[in-house]
Amino acid sequence: MTLLLAPGSATTDTGTVSVSVLIPVYNEEDNIAPLCGRLIPALDGLGRSFEVIFVNDGSTDGTEAELQRVASDSRIRVINFRRNVGQTAAMMAGIDHARGDVIVPMDGDLQNDPQDIAGLLAKLDEGYDVVSGWRADRQDGFLLRTLPSRMANKLISTISGVKLNDYGCTLKAYRRQMLQGYRLYGEMHRFVPIYARWQGAKLTEMPVRHHPRRHGQSKYGLERVLKVVLDLVVVKFLTQYETKPIYIFGFAGLMFMGLSVLAGIYAIYLKLVDGISFILTPLPLLVTMGLVTGVMCILMGLLAELLVRIYFESQGKSHYSIKTMLNFDEPPPPDRS
Ligand code: UDP
Ligand code: MG
Repeated sequence: MTLLLAPGSATTDTGTVSVSVLIPVYNEEDNIAPLCGRLIPALDGLGRSFEVIFVNDGSTDGTEAELQRVASDSRIRVINFRRNVGQTAAMMAGIDHARGDVIVPMDGDLQNDPQDIAGLLAKLDEGYDVVSGWRADRQDGFLLRTLPSRMANKLISTISGVKLNDYGCTLKAYRRQMLQGYRLYGEMHRFVPIYARWQGAKLTEMPVRHHPRRHGQSKYGLERVLKVVLDLVVVKFLTQYETKPIYIFGFAGLMFMGLSVLAGIYAIYLKLVDGISFILTPLPLLVTMGLVTGVMCILMGLLAELLVRIYFESQGKSHYSIKTMLNFDEPPPPDRS
């Protein structure tokens, strides 16, 4: 994947604080105050300059008012979206506007523990570029959440070749350079450590605490595991040039066409050598199906290839729309969504 900075995607005063904590929130009104009550003392205890960026992902409850209240502390910055576009886009907005040398995303429902941030930063100080949290003792329902996510983690680990136990934990720490140049979609925020590793980053994983959700509801169900797996296929296509879609579809297409040619040769052999008519055998059907499927596969490969190019060319486009920003010096960017 290209490491070009997408136009307009970053603030100019980067590096003016040491740590940026990014928190996407969607309908978390009861969690904002308790979270700040624990997060700010934990960050104060680090002895580093910091900012907290809440990205309000189009909440329809009292989240915006709660954020306005906590923003009386000027280190707490708020980006309000016009509508709900999803956790990944919210994280992208946070990355685009973060000024820290280190970026720490976390959930806004206190399932991640602010006390773990110190440990993640200590790992970066040891020389790692990315530290990924591992919810070794995950506090979500076993059958519907923990088990499917374990299976998905195994699959992602095998497909990507980057071995982590828990890709889905939001709590991670990145050196800011590791996040530059990506536009994230769908469930892709969890794959950033994989991209970073592919680019040569030093990656490690660290067990972190995980708490049950106390207020509000989870926004996700079992269907997310399927979305994650499908997104992984897209990630493979979009980031690794050697797995171009035309190679995969094209190879399958050529195989089908080759099979149909073999079936055709066999039909001619039957007729000429044994004098058997092939009209009443399955051979004509095999030849036709092989040819049609082969051509279709190659066309699909071409289409997928075209889409991949469009994806790259449209990377400058933002997928979120900002309504207001609190405690930022710059005005909200023009709406490019
Ligand atoms: N979230 C968001 N936009 C959404 C869905 C979720 O910003 O469309 C936020 C949510 O408020 C929380 C985080 O993403 O801070 C993780 O969501 P949730 O706790 O529902 O996920 P789970 O912990 O159940 O995986
Ligand atoms: Mg949660």
